[in-house]
Amino acid sequence: MFSNIINSERRDGGSAAARAIDPRTKKELWDVPVANEKDLNDAVFAAREAFKSWKLTSADDRQKCLFRVADELEARRGEMCPVLAKETGKSDLLANMEIDDTLKFIRFNASQYLPDEVTYEDDELKIVSTHPPLGVVGAISPWNFPLVLAVAKIAAALVMGNSIVVKPSPLTPYATLKFAELAIPILPSGVLQVLNGDNDLGRLMTLHPGIDKISFTGSTATGKKVAESASRSLKRVTLELGGNDASIVCPDVDVESVTRKVAAGAFFHSGQMCVASKRVYVHRDIFAKFREIFVDAVKDTVIDASGQQPTLFSPMQNEMQYRIVKGLIDDSKEKGYNVICGGDTTEEQPGLFIRPTVVDRPPDDSKIVTMEQFGPIIPLCEWSSEDELVTRVNDTDSGLGSCVWSGDGGTAERIARKLEVGTVWINSFGIPHPHGYFSGWKQSGLGGEWGRQGLLSYCHTQTLQIYKQT
Ligand code: NAD
Repeated sequence: MFSNIINSERRDGGSAAARAIDPRTKKELWDVPVANEKDLNDAVFAAREAFKSWKLTSADDRQKCLFRVADELEARRGEMCPVLAKETGKSDLLANMEIDDTLKFIRFNASQYLPDEVTYEDDELKIVSTHPPLGVVGAISPWNFPLVLAVAKIAAALVMGNSIVVKPSPLTPYATLKFAELAIPILPSGVLQVLNGDNDLGRLMTLHPGIDKISFTGSTATGKKVAESASRSLKRVTLELGGNDASIVCPDVDVESVTRKVAAGAFFHSGQMCVASKRVYVHRDIFAKFREIFVDAVKDTVIDASGQQPTLFSPMQNEMQYRIVKGLIDDSKEKGYNVICGGDTTEEQPGLFIRPTVVDRPPDDSKIVTMEQFGPIIPLCEWSSEDELVTRVNDTDSGLGSCVWSGDGGTAERIARKLEVGTVWINSFGIPHPHGYFSGWKQSGLGGEWGRQGLLSYCHTQTLQIYKQT
């Protein structure tokens, strides 16, 4: 049974209930209440009340609460894993990996606080930066990594002394609601609310006068709407949006091993990851060998309707994403691009699976190169000079992340520093880390989260300018 959580109590939706879909089978999952505007108002009221005392607790007490929440999640992994796997379409292996990451993000935040900082001092004057919390945070999250993306916001907001109202995607509400259920006995009443709601509930959050900050993770298109409506009350806003990450492979790599790692990063959760590599640029000297190994690495990918096999490959989470990816495959075929692997769906499976698909050197202005596919279709592109490479990779409105693979650290770092993106992974595929500040450049975001620097997005900086004599 799943309930919205308001002021540490379960709240059902009366007549308004929904059921999300299991992407492996397309069968309906469990009933879940759909929050309405009154639920939101009650949640914000509870959060505002809780904020009054939560902000006065010591950082140490807040940290202890979060460590206990992490321990509780770890103890109840056996209940959480099937819920997360069912709603996302992840295998048990992948769902467990997301729970591992969630634990890391909670424990990272639970070990942080931002002390006052003396930024200037002389005989007469001392200037101190302090970090009071913002108030009530509204967190809005997407469907691809529903648990870790929501919980990373919760942990950072709470450790800084804020209270929070969270709205997961209506496509994947269950694990976040379950998380709230296990956390509320540990947290003071009203510090954490979770409401399942549709897009309009998200919109109401961005307009709500009782919410001080919106932390949004989702598509660029929705991020723009969030920025627009949050601007009416000048709420603080952090936007973590879509990307079109490039993976750049230099000629000096161990082609066999690097190719397989690039493939793993591109098809991790079938590409439904904001920092999955979405365009692969391989130096012409090794292109042919890379292409051969890349196809070999993915052509026999296990399509497993049961979810029990330890695979990193998943179905599309929802019909809309399925249609987007299918459209990109059709477009590539219609335009006569060289589809060298996959290119078909899996009609023999009940679920929303699409086989790994590889397109050999489509034009730079093709849809498959310029769009965020968020699915298992990857264009392989060839490069020859560093200047030309950097120009092509940066020729996009997106700026989330990129990967650079080189046997020479200096070369990799030189290329990395020329890329217009928030994070560059060197000799790894894109995999966020709790200690790494995460921010999208250009239309991939506004502000950022995670890492120590990310905590600044959950507080004000108040300056105390103290003259020593009256
Ligand atoms: P989405 O933008 O459709 O939805 C995200 C959330 O916003 C959902 O909870 C949705 O209900 C809510 N929402 C929809 N309309 C709204 C509105 N007008 N106002 C407020 N909230 C509204 O995104 P999605 O399809 O769930 O997620 C996939 C996208 O998220 C991809 O583009 C992916 O790249 C991006 N993403 C980014 C990151 C990152 O950290 N940068 C991480 C994961 C996913």
